[in-house]
Amino acid sequence: MPLEIVTVPCLTDNYAYLAHDAATGATAVIDVPEAAPIVNALHARDWHASHILITHHHGDHIDGVKALAAATGARVIGAAADRHRLPPLTEEVREGDTVRVGMSIGRVIEVPGHTVGHIAFHFPDSGVVFTADSLMALGCGRLFEGTPAQMWESLGKLAALPPETLVCSGHEYTQSNGRFALTIEPDNPALISRVKAVAEAREMGRATVPSRLGEELDTNPFLRANLPEVKRSIGMEGATDVACFAEIRARKDRF
Ligand code: ZN
Ligand code: FE
Repeated sequence: MPLEIVTVPCLTDNYAYLAHDAATGATAVIDVPEAAPIVNALHARDWHASHILITHHHGDHIDGVKALAAATGARVIGAAADRHRLPPLTEEVREGDTVRVGMSIGRVIEVPGHTVGHIAFHFPDSGVVFTADSLMALGCGRLFEGTPAQMWESLGKLAALPPETLVCSGHEYTQSNGRFALTIEPDNPALISRVKAVAEAREMGRATVPSRLGEELDTNPFLRANLPEVKRSIGMEGATDVACFAEIRARKDRF
């Protein structure tokens, strides 16, 4: 049985997620920007947090971990590489390690770039990946610690997952990401219609995440830096994929 996924808005534009295994009652919380909205979302469903999965060390993803762990007794799981800057971990994980949430097995994917210790959690049987600030809806995280080459490789690992995979990312940045994406590919019909749908969703106050990996592959400029039409559009025909990715990321930083 696939995990049931709930998106929980936190702080001003962060998202945490609940992943609930109905067969066993196990419930993972992915990132804890603040405890209160997550406690409320759990209570509303009569769910109990059994696991806290941390994607990376930034405060807007971990500041509520200690409080939630104390209130629930949940196992806290995070990257071994970041143990020195994460709340106390019950379990440290690395690339390829698995985490079990009830009957569901999640696989750890190391996705350095935004930070060097950033990880994603992929649950293949549920077709869902928790990417936080690595792959984002129509975007990717800013390169605070990693290099463009690292982030390009990280995005490549995520891009290789099945296209129907649900991408659960960490922020409501999609609308401004879309405005930027149109500067790279103004004539991409899939992008134009997605930007329109995103504007409608925001007008209704709806979250624009999770998204489908397939639609990211069709519209997210950071996944498309290897395509001839994108290289041409940024005036970098013949440049390497990494150089084009770095240029698109640099333009976004100035946008
Ligand atoms: Zn971050
Ligand atoms: Fe963040």
